[in-house]
Amino acid sequence: MIKIRAEYCPQNHRCPVIRHCPTGAITQKDFGPPEIDDSKCTLCCKCTQKCSVFMPVGCCEKGPDSRRW
Ligand code: SF4
Ligand code: SF4
Repeated sequence: MIKIRAEYCPQNHRCPVIRHCPTGAITQKDFGPPEIDDSKCTLCCKCTQKCSVFMPVGCCEKGPDSRRW
């Protein structure tokens, strides 16, 4: 599944990752942290490549995490 690390999201902008999700699984209420509908998520991991607030848990392993904080 994809976990949202809300504590790392500044929650002050519209999430640009939403439009990259091919299944419409990501939603956002106002400027809050995005949410994922697990029933729509196909674990394509496009979101995890765009922003590290989206963290794969038990899926999407593609080698070392090259993202920086
Ligand atoms: S999840 Fe990432 S891209 Fe989306 S609103 Fe939060 S910081 Fe911005
Ligand atoms: S893993 Fe893919 S389908 Fe799931 S929320 Fe992220 S972009 Fe959407």
